[in-house]
Amino acid sequence: MRGRPMTDREAYPAAWITLAVLAGAFLLWRFVLGEPTVSRCWIWEHWHVYCPGCGGTRALMALARGQLGQALRYHPPVVVTLFLAAAYLLTQTVWRLRGKRGLVLHYHRRWPALLVGLFLVNCLVRDVLWLGFGIPL
Ligand SMILES: [Zn+2]
Repeated sequence: MRGRPMTDREAYPAAWITLAVLAGAFLLWRFVLGEPTVSRCWIWEHWHVYCPGCGGTRALMALARGQLGQALRYHPPVVVTLFLAAAYLLTQTVWRLRGKRGLVLHYHRRWPALLVGLFLVNCLVRDVLWLGFGIPL
């Protein structure tokens, strides 16, 4: 039995809650913990291949410093995901404030699968570059 697919009714507050949790985690890491280094990826450490998340933390750090090009080099799907989330939250908020009129980006149930696919393709490309040509991340 499948439940009702998620809509803006659930996705919009969930996106704000996720943003608040991530912002809180960043502030905790930055100001309370004093920017400790993040441990290296277990998969990379043990098997010397990239996992779908490898480079994601570095991309987030680069974005936090305003280095978009560097973030794209480290992990393009992270940048795409954050851009999509920002566009979604911005258009949804403006749309709601204007009485649900104007242009808006609605959540679509295919988004999670598309983003997971993007992460997997990125991982595959990185591992082909690394294992096939010796080009590191
Ligand atoms: Zn990894």
